[in-house]
Amino acid sequence: MKPRTGQHIDIVLVGGGHAHVHVLDAFGRRPEPGVRLTLIARDPMTPYSGMLPGVVAGFYTRDEAHIDLAQLAAATGTRLIHGEAVGLDRTVKQIRLADGSSVSYDIASIDVGITPDLSSIRGTAEHGIAVKPIGEFLTKFDDLRARCREPDGPRRIAVIGGGAGGVELLLSLRTRLLAEAAADGRDGTAFSFALATDASILPTHNGRVQAVFRRVFAARGIELHEHRPVAALEPGKLRFDDGDVLHADAVLLTTKAAPPSWFAGTGLARDVGGFLAVGPTLQALNEPDIFASGDCAALTETPREKAGVYAVRAGPPLADNLRYCAQGEPTKPWRPQSRHLALISTGERYAVASRGWLKAEGAWLWRLKDWIDRRWMRRYQR
Ligand SMILES: Cc1cc2nc3c(=O)[nH]c(=O)nc-3n(C[C@H](O)[C@H](O)[C@H](O)COP(=O)(O)OP(=O)(O)OC[C@H]3O[C@@H](n4cnc5c(N)ncnc54)[C@H](O)[C@@H]3O)c2cc1C
Repeated sequence: MKPRTGQHIDIVLVGGGHAHVHVLDAFGRRPEPGVRLTLIARDPMTPYSGMLPGVVAGFYTRDEAHIDLAQLAAATGTRLIHGEAVGLDRTVKQIRLADGSSVSYDIASIDVGITPDLSSIRGTAEHGIAVKPIGEFLTKFDDLRARCREPDGPRRIAVIGGGAGGVELLLSLRTRLLAEAAADGRDGTAFSFALATDASILPTHNGRVQAVFRRVFAARGIELHEHRPVAALEPGKLRFDDGDVLHADAVLLTTKAAPPSWFAGTGLARDVGGFLAVGPTLQALNEPDIFASGDCAALTETPREKAGVYAVRAGPPLADNLRYCAQGEPTKPWRPQSRHLALISTGERYAVASRGWLKAEGAWLWRLKDWIDRRWMRRYQR
């Protein structure tokens, strides 16, 4: 590749998602001659999704579950720009930022995650608490905890969304709120918890894993509403599409994902959902100088569910292909594995393993998950 400036090749990473933290680390360990690496990050502290339920349950501090991008950038010789990308102009090869400035690139890579799609449920903006982006959620969560301490604060808590994120979140939230009530000498039995989903819980997992969580919900007295789409949130309640009502003082949403709205104006190829369409080399289908990975990308040849594990696994092939692209060498295809081992916690130090038709459960699986997550974090926390 011929550098745009004539001096160096500018690789600009947009978003400090899971794949990009690996790129920083890889280029820090083995700098690429003639390349300047830049990271544009909206949130200088980026959360690691695998540990988020543990933060909610009170098992991890915020710092333990976040990567400090400023520190990582400094340690790896990466230029950090604290800002929010709002557009990309392919004709002049520039990323536009919310403050009106622009950043030029020779090669760009996008790993900015998703935004929640709240369009299918009325009243979510006024009465709901969106879990994504996770960085903003933890502040809302602290606010909810504080309100729950008030004598007339929320007691009926509901989560909409039955994927692993929603299930783990509700169970972890319950653990935390009940522990705090007990510690303050408040009446924990005043709390009630419910989960509503338009499908079955954990729809991408096998029936035995689903059965474990139905058992856990029943044992803890958590109301479970499966195959019941929610149509609207109203003050103090949610309304199902059949007109039935569930009373709830706080409603958290982990429903469908939507791509950031600025993707629409980039002219980059997108899938039907609006996510950036990439081939097996993680390059945009209509622009080889632009890469995308993580939840914001759609792997057109090997579609996978949106999960942190695939964002993590995309890191090494992305780093390699950014190097090849800068060197003018052919990039190499990546084929993500079709199944992965998911370790889903029950909100306590206990987890359920799920892979294909396999199911296992126990406290030892939580310890295994804890070990895997901490090992991953150690690599990027400088
Ligand atoms: C409650 C919950 C629990 C979950 N648990 C798990 C789990 O246990 N295992 C699992 O595999 N998955 C889990 N997930 C899913 C997981 O969160 C995502 O799949 C994962 O975070 C995707 O990583 P990513 O790199 O695509 O983006 P993200 O992790 O979302 O990172 C995107 C980054 O880009 C930055 N950014 C965003 N927009 C811009 C912009 N315009 N300009 C600059 N920077 C920007 C953000 O600040 C952020 O740092 C969970 C999700 C939820 C909601």
